[in-house]
Amino acid sequence: MSHNLSIAAKIPVTEAEGPGKRFAVWVQGCPFRCPGCCNPQYLDFTGGTSNISPAQLAGEIVEYQNEIEGVTFIGGEPFSKAAALGEVAGLIREKGLSVMVFTGYTLGELSDSADPAYPARSALLSNTDLLVDGRYQRENHITNRRWIGSSNQEVHFLTDRYIDLKDQWPAEANTIEIRYKDGQLTINGFPDPDITKKSLKLLKK
Ligand code: SF4
Repeated sequence: MSHNLSIAAKIPVTEAEGPGKRFAVWVQGCPFRCPGCCNPQYLDFTGGTSNISPAQLAGEIVEYQNEIEGVTFIGGEPFSKAAALGEVAGLIREKGLSVMVFTGYTLGELSDSADPAYPARSALLSNTDLLVDGRYQRENHITNRRWIGSSNQEVHFLTDRYIDLKDQWPAEANTIEIRYKDGQLTINGFPDPDITKKSLKLLKK
């Protein structure tokens, strides 16, 4: 299997995909098909910009190291490319940057050492500070816990890096960012396709 990555989208500096200012990377491809997924265009494994090496992506992120405090991997499913992203995460953590990952797997699934995918998964997991886990459940959609799309999902503080946020994060509501550049509108940070449609209607008025 190729160790290179297919990337669906990147935002070099965002404040809507985790604590502080972060470089966000949307990985192309997800094995799950959650009804109501907010990024259906990122589910096919064949799309995106392909053949990006871990060193190439890490180098691009490090160029922004003075503007950001970390990177967020989101998708798609980051753990479908866990070995490559584990390498990226290791390289950028050496520069003092933090790593946050949004995954459809549960932490329990990722921690199953009997699964053949475990060595690759642990390469990424061991370089992750914050993990938001679990498939999106449309019937359990919530908006009042920052970075969380449905009530089954959890934020796991896997290192002490963000331990000071542990008590305050559930009380904060989700946020969105809207960008208009080169004739293209992009919205990120709020995992709710209905809200996205409402925002677009407002902007058309
Ligand atoms: S795990 Fe995430 S990206 Fe994958 S289908 Fe579910 S909501 Fe979409």
